[in-house]
Amino acid sequence: VLFARERDRFLASLSALDGEPADHVPAARRSADRYAAIDVPGPGRFVNTPDTDPAVEANRTWGREILGRVAGSTLGAAAIDAARVTDPAALDALITGLREGTWGSLSAQERAAVLHRAGELLEARRADLLEVMASEAGKTLDQGDPEVSEAIDFAHFYAERGLELAHVDGARFVPARVTLVTPPWNFPVAIPAGSTLAALAAGSAVVLKPAQEAERCGAVLAEILWEAGVPRDALQLVQVDESTLGQTLIAHPHVDRVILTGAYETAELFRTFRPDLPLLAEASGKNSIIVTPSADLDLAVRDVVASAFGHAGQKCSAASLVILVGSVARSRRFRTQLLDAASSLVVGPPDDPQTQMGPLVAPASGKLLDGLTTLDEGEHWSLAPRRLDAAGQQWTPGIRSGVVRGSTSHRVEYFGPVLSVMTAETLDDAINIANDIDYGLTAGIQSLDPAEITTWIRRIQAGNLYVNRGITGAIVQRQPFGGWKKSAVGPGTKAGGPSYLLGLGSWEPSEATA
Ligand code: GLU
Repeated sequence: VLFARERDRFLASLSALDGEPADHVPAARRSADRYAAIDVPGPGRFVNTPDTDPAVEANRTWGREILGRVAGSTLGAAAIDAARVTDPAALDALITGLREGTWGSLSAQERAAVLHRAGELLEARRADLLEVMASEAGKTLDQGDPEVSEAIDFAHFYAERGLELAHVDGARFVPARVTLVTPPWNFPVAIPAGSTLAALAAGSAVVLKPAQEAERCGAVLAEILWEAGVPRDALQLVQVDESTLGQTLIAHPHVDRVILTGAYETAELFRTFRPDLPLLAEASGKNSIIVTPSADLDLAVRDVVASAFGHAGQKCSAASLVILVGSVARSRRFRTQLLDAASSLVVGPPDDPQTQMGPLVAPASGKLLDGLTTLDEGEHWSLAPRRLDAAGQQWTPGIRSGVVRGSTSHRVEYFGPVLSVMTAETLDDAINIANDIDYGLTAGIQSLDPAEITTWIRRIQAGNLYVNRGITGAIVQRQPFGGWKKSAVGPGTKAGGPSYLLGLGSWEPSEATA
C-alpha cells in the first residue's frame, strides 16, 4: 500500500518536475555545479606504499600501481581493526549494549540535531570520502562526488522526517530497538549512510556491517557519525564473515530489522537464517531504456551511455537494455552514435579526473565474465569489450546486438559494463519486452511524444521511472528510490522518500487514546 501511494505521488509529481527549482535538495544540486571546481585528490595525493594487509593488497589490481594508502593509513584504520569481532559472545554483548542504549529515549529534536550535524561533517569531509571511495572501491571522482551529496541529503532529510514521526495524533511510533544495516560496495558511502541515518532518525540503534570490499568507506562513515554525536551505544561498526553475519547477527533475536541493499539472492539467503526476518531490501534490477522514433536521439545517446557505463555499470539502477522502436531500430543513426559515444569513453584509474569509466570492484567472474566474453545464439558484438589488465578488472564497454527475447542477455543482470540492444516494432511491444523480466527497479523512456510517455508510465513495471533523462542517480526527496517486483523485498518504501522511516518501527495507540 505504501509503495502504491509513493508511486502515485511520484507519477503525480512527474509533470511538475520540468523547470522545478531543486532548492530543497541543496547538496545534490551543488554537486553538479561544483565538480569542476572541487579540490580533486590528484594522483600526487595517493601514495604507493605497500599495504601491510595482504588480503587488502590482493584486492588492488587496477592494472597500474596500487592506490590508496593515504586513505587507508589515515582514515578509518583504527575503526576497522576494532570492528573485526568474531566471537559470538562479543557480538551478543554488542547487540545488548545497543538495545539498552539511550538513543531511542532521546527527543526527536535531539536526534535531529545530531543528524543535521552529521550532514555538515559529511560535507566537511567530502574530499576524504572521495579519496577512500576511489582508492578502495574504484569509484571515479565524478561518480563519487554526487554520492557524497546524496549522503548529506539523507542526513538532513531523515532528520526532518524523524521530527514528523513525533507529531501524529492518537498514535505513537515505536522504533525498532536494533537495526542491522548491510549495504553493498557499489555505493559505499551513500547507501550505508542513507540506511544508517534513516534507522537513527527513526530512533533505532544500528549495527553497521559494511561490504567487505568497502570496509574503509564504512569505517570513515562511522567515524563521521560518531564525531557528529551519535553515541557508541547507538551505532556500532562490525566486520564479520558471512557465516557469522547469518548465524550471529541476522539470526539474533534482538535484531529487530535488517536493511539490505544487494542481490535478490542475498535477500533470500538472509531469510534462510531467519524466516520471519523483518527485512527491508532493495535488490537487483535489469533495467531498460526505450527509445522511440520521436526521441531526441542525441540526448538519448548521452543518457543511455551514462546510465549503462557510469561506474562501469555496477549500479542496481544501471541501464542494461536499450530497446529501439520502429524506425530507430531500422536506421543506423542511433546505433552508430551509440557506438561512437561508448567507444570514446576514457577508461582508466579512478583517481584520474579524466577517467569516465573506472575499474570493476574486483576481477570479472561468474555471470559478469560470461556477459563480457560470450554470446548467446543470434547475438553479435556491436562493440566487443576488451580486457585491459591481466587480472580482468579493467574493461572497455561492451554492446551486444541481436539479443533475443527470453535470452540471458534480456533477463539476467550482469552488473557490469555490458549493454544489450533489443528491437521492437511498436512502443507496446517494447514495453512488453521491458516488463518480461523478474525485476522492476528503474526504467527510462526517450520520447518527445506526450501520448507515448503517458502510455509508458501507465504500463511500465518499475519502481523508478525516468523520462528523457538517465536512469541512475535518484535524488533524495525529489526522486526517492525503490523497486517493484523482485527488486524490492519488504514494505516497498523508498529510500529518500516520505514513508521510509515508517518501515523502521511500528505504531501503537498513544497514551492519550489508549
Ligand atoms: N540509488 C542509486 C541510483 O539511483 C542506485 C543504488 C544501487 O545501485 O543500489 O542510481
